[in-house]
Amino acid sequence: MIQKAMTIAYRVEDKLYLNLTNRCPCACTFCIRKNGSGAYGSDPLWLEHEPSLQEVREAIDKADPSKYTEVVFCGYGEPTEALELLCETADYLREKYPGIPTRLNTNGLSDLIHGKETAHLLKGRIHTVSVSLNAGTKEEYLRVTQPKFGEESYQAMQQFALHCKSYVDKVLFTVVDILSEEEMSASRRLAEKLGIGLRIREYIED
Ligand code: SF4
Repeated sequence: MIQKAMTIAYRVEDKLYLNLTNRCPCACTFCIRKNGSGAYGSDPLWLEHEPSLQEVREAIDKADPSKYTEVVFCGYGEPTEALELLCETADYLREKYPGIPTRLNTNGLSDLIHGKETAHLLKGRIHTVSVSLNAGTKEEYLRVTQPKFGEESYQAMQQFALHCKSYVDKVLFTVVDILSEEEMSASRRLAEKLGIGLRIREYIED
């Protein structure tokens, strides 16, 4: 059987991004899934099947992480939907390419996805966790993110970010630069209250 190539690993500037799953419990209004098939000029990121650990390992080896400054779990879905694969992949990176920093870009809903606390699983595996805060108020967060878990998502996302502080080197919140001035200020206040840095990222249209 001929299998179509899948984009599991792709370059974004000097970083290697890993795409493990299409699954995501959210439907963010700004999601790249709605605006195009790739990101940052990558090949289409929609995976025709969830990759096996072996497929991920092969994609990593082919890309050669030693040529990059960081390996980022991101892609077209929520990486923690494939939590076991994420942990196994991080273990593989640590063993075969020691010294390469790893980052998880997440919506912060891993605990709700798995029905239990999960931040401790990142210990020793992930250096930086970047959580999509998306908005500074619950109402706007729910409007923008549209999580399938509903209202409890806003609190769960913040709780996950706080838990991560105990297990990884660095935790960040992110918002996209299309937020209103008011929401941006509310996001800053919330990030400050929780003692977590805030990164403002550019909205990607395609
Ligand atoms: S959490 Fe990420 S992958 Fe999921 S809908 Fe939002 S932007 Fe898209």
